[in-house]
Amino acid sequence: CGIVGYAGNIDAACGKPLEVCLQGLARLEYRGYDSAGVALSAPGMDHVEVRKKAGRLANLVDSVERRPMPAATVGIGHTRWATNGVPSDVNSHPHTSRDGKVAIIHNGIIENASQLRLDLQAEGYRFSSATDTEVAAKLLGKIVDAIIAEEGAPDLFKAVRRLARMLEGAFTILATDCRQPGIVVGARHDSPLVVGLGDGENFLGSDVAAFVAYTKRALEVDQDQAVCVSADGVTVTDFYGNPVENPTTYTIDWD
Ligand code: GLU
Repeated sequence: CGIVGYAGNIDAACGKPLEVCLQGLARLEYRGYDSAGVALSAPGMDHVEVRKKAGRLANLVDSVERRPMPAATVGIGHTRWATNGVPSDVNSHPHTSRDGKVAIIHNGIIENASQLRLDLQAEGYRFSSATDTEVAAKLLGKIVDAIIAEEGAPDLFKAVRRLARMLEGAFTILATDCRQPGIVVGARHDSPLVVGLGDGENFLGSDVAAFVAYTKRALEVDQDQAVCVSADGVTVTDFYGNPVENPTTYTIDWD
């Protein structure tokens, strides 16, 4: 139900991605939710670091305080309003690819998830949750693997666009890949996504409340667009990779 993302300095892994995600999720609590979770990436990680808990955001914060998460360069955070699968730790987001290298969070409902799940199961994929989102996670991992086979390197931005073209229904998604720990990639269809423009860092949110504590400059991602955010760059395209020239930015006029 709420989404937040952060991309910071690729050379300086630190606690800020986690701090921004937890603080952003707290700011989004007013929307209502039943579970919360985060995923972090940094150079040198061989999988994304995921922590997620059913119930209050305090449960997640508690877990992170008891067992600290590693320093990171990028992070994504999610509060869930369950639509497919009961509220539980396992059904909470983020969900990960088969190899654990890619994590995704999602607001909305993927209408063709059952068919996609059957297709993936026929190929041997196993699912641990009842969610539509895990289907998108496994599919995204498969797409990244295909791109590595084609081009010799992962390309999360391209992979998310391919994924977005295959999904039916409403979605805002954010994804991170531990092999590309300098970027967070998003896409949206019938569900909102906003970029917060910082100085040497950038933010993402399902609404500006997610990052307004850090920046008042924002950029709206429009219908059927994808975005790749790093510490010092924001690139917006359509789902086919055609660039959106000069997307409109604005200043948030509340605090
Ligand atoms: N359909 C997804 C789920 O049930 C996402 C729900 C949401 O928007 O939080 O897990």
